[in-house]
This record gives sequence, structure tokens and C-alpha cells, in this order.
Amino acid sequence: MTIWNLGSINADMVYALPHLPEPGETLAASGLQRFLGGKGANMSVAAARAGSRVSHIGAVGSDGLWARDRLIEYGVDTRHISEVDVPTGHAIIAVDAQGENLIILFQGANHAITGDQIGQALSSAVSGDLLVMQNETNAQIEAAILGRDMGLTVCYAAAPFQAEAVQVVLPHLDFLILNEVEAEQLQEATGLAPSHLPVEHVIVTFGSKGARYYQRGSDPQVFPAHKVSAVDTTGAGDTFTGYVLAGMDRGMPMAQAISQANRAAALMVTRHGTADVIPDLKEVRAAQFD
Ligand code: ATP
Repeated sequence: MTIWNLGSINADMVYALPHLPEPGETLAASGLQRFLGGKGANMSVAAARAGSRVSHIGAVGSDGLWARDRLIEYGVDTRHISEVDVPTGHAIIAVDAQGENLIILFQGANHAITGDQIGQALSSAVSGDLLVMQNETNAQIEAAILGRDMGLTVCYAAAPFQAEAVQVVLPHLDFLILNEVEAEQLQEATGLAPSHLPVEHVIVTFGSKGARYYQRGSDPQVFPAHKVSAVDTTGAGDTFTGYVLAGMDRGMPMAQAISQANRAAALMVTRHGTADVIPDLKEVRAAQFD
């Protein structure tokens, strides 16, 4: 089967600064590093590293062809990533000597995905394939409706959280994943606890406290996190989601998919970085936890 990921692709530009700038201040950065980022790209890499066939649906500008190449290196099918006349989505991340940061996000090409492009990509999808989206691209609702009509398993990672964006796609979803804060915000907006959402599979992640799985009509199942020395939790959620999707795609029972995702995400938080350091299945299986 294939995981179709309508997802963002970002360049994460990390500038090292002596302190964060004040309004009007000009500051020289002592270093610049560029990483592949964006929730969509992270999830594609995670699911591909977990052994699934992943086809990414997205867009980059002419300044982002390196990002498309990087996805290819990680085993992602990039034939449905278009090159558009808009700059690639990016995050300008300023980090001071104490590790404090400020981030400027530019959505760019991530919001230049056309309905035609999605239709063309999904014309090769077959019933039972997974379609996943996050809230960093345009055209989420069109894709969700099309996916449902085609008999795909429609999945949504509700980040960055916007109550309205989730509520619009909610009736078309088979699977919803959110973190603890997002679950609270959705409950405030809808009045519905995760166990009462009209979605067959819901997972809420709780950082170092693990995750909870709600299958519609059943009692929640709790999955404690592994105890590790976390050095960088960036991308933990995307790694977790990518591994859950890969497990679902390969027909694993949900509990097994979540256990594997828990291991992958625990390993991920022991590493600095995002897409470039997402562990592969071999590393996840070999990892020893207390
Ligand atoms: P992020 O936005 O930082 O990528 P998130 O808020 O979407 O993450 P979290 O709930 O923080 O998601 O974490 C997702 C999963 O990652 C958790 O369910 C857990 O399996 C794992 N995880 C996160 N933090 C830790 C930690 N400190 N120790 C072990 N596992 C962790």
C-alpha cells in the first residue's frame, strides 16, 4: 500500500546569535545551518524510514529543489511535488547563546498546491491506501473529501492547531492525532472529549507521559513513554505520527503500531535535529530502553 502525504516542505534556517534582536537592532549571526523541515516532510521521512512506500504531494519554489532531492535520498517518492513560482516555505530560526529562540514562518509554496495536482496524484491511489494531511498546506478539505470518496483511510495531524481547520475536515476523517494541548483546545471548541469525537481512531500524545488511543466505542488504551534522557524534542510528534501511519499501512494492529511509534519517538528525542535524524526501523527495533 502507499501513504499519500499532502504535506509541507520547509527549509529550516537556523542562525546563531549572541542574543535575540530588539526591535530595530541589526545583529550579525555567527553561524547558519540549513535543515529539511516542515511537519509534512518530517512525516514523509519518518514513514519512509519505517519501511512504507510514501508519496509526498506538495510544492517547492526554485530555491527548494535541494529539499526535494533530500526527500528522495530518504526514500520518499517526490513525483507529485511541483515546482512553483513562489519561494519555498521556510522557517527563520534565531537561537541565542542560552538556547532561547524566535521563529519566523513563511508558508510560501506550501500554499500553492492545486486541486488538479492532488487529483492527479491520487489517481494512482487504490482503496485502502492512506492519505495524511497536517495544517501547513492549503487544500486540506478538498483532499480529505476526495480521499474519502476514493475509499482511502483519511488521516489528519492537527498541527499547527487551528480549531476551525480541524472542525472542517473532522467529518471526513478515519484517524486523528493531536497532542495534549491540541486535544484540550479541540474539546473547548467542540465540547467533545477525544473519546466522543466522530472519528474511528484518535490518538492523543502526552510528550514524556506517552500516548492514549481511543477507538470509537471502546475504552482508551494507555501507552507509557520510554524513559530516556531527552536532548531535543523537536520532531518527536512527527516521528511518532509517521511510524503510526507506517504501522497502519502495513496492516499492524493499532496497539503494535503505537508501541513501535513510542520507541521511534523516544529514540528521536535523544538526538539533535529533525528530518535528518529520524531513526529507521532497524535502529528502532535495536534500541534498548530501561
Ligand atoms: P513536537 O511538536 O515536539 O514534535 P508533539 O507535541 O506533537 O511534539 P508530544 O506529545 O510532545 O508531541 O510527543 C509525541 C510522542 O513522542 C510521545 O507520545 C512520546 O511517545 C514521544 N516523546 C516525546 N517526548 C518524550 C520524552 N521526553 N521521552 C520519551 N518519549 C517522548
